[in-house]
Amino acid sequence: MIIVLKPDATESQLKHIVSKVKSLGLKPMISRGLERTIIGVIGEEDLLRVQPLDVFPGVEKVMPVLAPYKLVSREFKPADTVVDINGIKVGGNRVVVMAGPCAVENFDLLYSIARSVKKGGAVILRGGAFKPRTSPYSFQGLGEEGLKFLVEVRKRTGLPIATELMDIRDLDMVERHADVIQIGARNMQNFDLLKEVGRSKKPVLLKRGMASTIKDWLLSAEYILQNGNFNVILCERGIRTFETETRFTQDLSCIPIIKSLSHLPIVVDPSHAAGRWGLVPSMAKAAVAAGADGLLIEVHSKPEEALCDGPQAMLPEKFSKLMQELRRIARAIGREL
Ligand code: PEP
Ligand code: MN
Repeated sequence: MIIVLKPDATESQLKHIVSKVKSLGLKPMISRGLERTIIGVIGEEDLLRVQPLDVFPGVEKVMPVLAPYKLVSREFKPADTVVDINGIKVGGNRVVVMAGPCAVENFDLLYSIARSVKKGGAVILRGGAFKPRTSPYSFQGLGEEGLKFLVEVRKRTGLPIATELMDIRDLDMVERHADVIQIGARNMQNFDLLKEVGRSKKPVLLKRGMASTIKDWLLSAEYILQNGNFNVILCERGIRTFETETRFTQDLSCIPIIKSLSHLPIVVDPSHAAGRWGLVPSMAKAAVAAGADGLLIEVHSKPEEALCDGPQAMLPEKFSKLMQELRRIARAIGREL
């Protein structure tokens, strides 16, 4: 249920409604837009039916939220959410590029890739210390040591770091080191993990499950918001289809769909979708043209020796060239990059 206030509703009218909602044992969530304030009410909505809130002073209308997700919906919050990552804003006019290796392999390599992606114009460094690998025999990541390398590289380059959290038991450690907590495709429906990152204050990058509908994905985001963390960035990284030419199929139509259904920012990861570096530029350019708020791109200086996802990693010089092309596309649609 959402309670839409009149444009001229006063602060004391708002307080009065909020206290009434609380007294019914419901949880009000206030969303202040430029024009008007909306109070989202989560819980037993039937309770509101016995209390006709639409007659309260300051209230314009009371409406049910028809979508199964509530807090992530545009109805609940008409204005775009802008997630602040150490001053870098995701969801605003600037298209934010996050780049780096799939996995943190060693300090020197991470540092040199970080410097080159920064030079190319990336503003956030990505790199996994905990890797969700299909085979238990594949490189699993450096764990805490990898996080420490990321922290040192952040110190030297100033780039905030995005890294994956796989296990609730590592939350404190990852939260302490990372600027963005990535929840990978394979954990998109790990609901206990979602609840825990929902209790964190750190921005969360929620990747789309490889076989998840947009509705499933938004309901997963709802778990995070429902636990108090509104700093969620959605990331489309390709879905499974019958096509085998690409690793996954990039679903770019989800960008305008997400924009209409939700206020959350959405970024696109063309690397995991394509699975081949040669396809990444086209997908990245198409994503920016389609309105993505950012990109997540894998870059490696020696892709043939990479311990994870080498075939899809771009060389730093190719990444820099792509960034120049992306800037032109961003400019053409009135955005910066
Ligand atoms: C990654 O970002 O390296 C990764 C494992 O991504 P995904 O969860 O989308 O497969
Ligand atoms: Mn990867």
